[in-house]
Amino acid sequence: MGKLKENNSGKVFLVGAGPGDVGLVTLRAHELIRDCDALVFDHLANAELRKRAKPECEQIDVGKAPGRHTMIQEEIGKILVEKARQGKKVVRLKGGDPFVFGRCAEEMIVLDEANISYEIVPGVTAALACAAYAGITLSHREYGSSISFLTGHEDVEKESLRVNFKKFAEVGGTLCIYMGMGTINEITQKLMDGGLPKDKPAAIVSHGTLPAQRKVISTVGNLVHDAERADLEAPAIIFIGNSIGLSTKGNWFERKQLFGKRIVITRPLEQASRLKAMLEEKGADVLELPLIRILPSEDRNLVAETFAGIATYEWVVFTSANGAREFFNVFFKAFGDIRSFGPMRIACVGEATAEVVRKFNLEVELIPNRSTGEDLAQALVATNSLDSANVLVVTGNRNREILVGLLESIGHAIVDSLPIYQTDFANVTEAPDLAQYCQYGADAIVFTSSSTALSFVEQEEDLKLANGATKPMLCSFGPETSKTLRENDLEVSLEIENPSVDSMVEALVQKIGNH
Ligand code: SAH
Repeated sequence: MGKLKENNSGKVFLVGAGPGDVGLVTLRAHELIRDCDALVFDHLANAELRKRAKPECEQIDVGKAPGRHTMIQEEIGKILVEKARQGKKVVRLKGGDPFVFGRCAEEMIVLDEANISYEIVPGVTAALACAAYAGITLSHREYGSSISFLTGHEDVEKESLRVNFKKFAEVGGTLCIYMGMGTINEITQKLMDGGLPKDKPAAIVSHGTLPAQRKVISTVGNLVHDAERADLEAPAIIFIGNSIGLSTKGNWFERKQLFGKRIVITRPLEQASRLKAMLEEKGADVLELPLIRILPSEDRNLVAETFAGIATYEWVVFTSANGAREFFNVFFKAFGDIRSFGPMRIACVGEATAEVVRKFNLEVELIPNRSTGEDLAQALVATNSLDSANVLVVTGNRNREILVGLLESIGHAIVDSLPIYQTDFANVTEAPDLAQYCQYGADAIVFTSSSTALSFVEQEEDLKLANGATKPMLCSFGPETSKTLRENDLEVSLEIENPSVDSMVEALVQKIGNH
């Protein structure tokens, strides 16, 4: 490859990515991530943030997992310089706040030397976030009128990096110790040697603000023992001070109904965003494994023909929310006015589909009790209105034969079917959260349609779980989907009666929620 042309238009943004929960990044950070050409990140930045970057944004992992330095600081500096010299807008994401034990200074020096301009965006630092999400107050009018941020990371070669914990025993107030888990024994011992009473309140919060958050509330004397018993691991903040003693009940975050539950959604995010948002609001860790892709129908002539005769139908039957959504997309492109739709009656396979139709202030006259093609057909036949009636069935490219067959054979209707969209299996190896799923598993997988179930079966090889990963229970949006799963020897643990996002969330809370 030839040498890239250098220019000065590039710029580096050293951006605080917050402690974990993506809701805690600043608006400025969010904007920069969305617009940048190169995103340089390490393991402390939430993977979810990276999904917000443009598809063409170059993403570079310089992650340094504890004990496994994948890239030394010097190399990171070089990358920042190189990318900026290519004229790129570079975002260097740093966990928490860039200036709090973030080695930001090293990167600033490198950039200064290379004459590259930069900006710094502060972030919510781990100590403050962990305290808030664990309900641990750091200051109090009567206890704790100073707050200190310390690092417990002891570098044997660099005396200057050592904190004199004995002295901090005298300083008092609230101590927030970063990177202290590896030397917790020594830290607590030195604090007690320095005169800190062993019953001084202390706490540890690990994986703060994330669904994996864990905490112990203890005392300096018992902290090591309690942390071991609770099996707490880094990243974690150790808190010490009197105000911590006030905090034992404040676990608002961990009390969320789906806190700590890993739930997989299988629809493409465009359609699953409400489900994701509702699950996250209840504290769940949502993994995205899109198993299907929705594509518009290729038969534009058929669509045009159907629309030309739209006024002749007595019933329009929608068999899926995707179908209804795509139908109205195309409809409004063709007509631009709802009055062209005509006075026909409308049937929908289930509540979620009906919700889409009602958005256009159209009344849905019929929804069967169970959301299957057979039930929909029977409910329509029972209206005694089908004989010789023109019926339009709006479908995808799967699962329409039974419905159309029954409407024609029992109802004697004249049926046109309009495949308005196609469902294709999405390649799961491209799913953003596949690696996480395979490594840790999940508590539940939500199948929204038979096609997501079929795609799951077909791609089983790529979805294999590692040893020790949690085996998920399978949840289905309706009988058709359950049938597909069972036909493939998969056990369905949860099926909802009325397929809607709200009932699925409610059912998950009932089944696996923290009560
Ligand atoms: N710049 C970061 C700190 C980097 S040092 C900030 O401002 O937060 C890395 C240390 O931060 C970890 O060893 C741990 O002590 C702490 N840390 C980072 N994220 C954390 C989290 N989600 N929960 C608990 N501690 C965290």
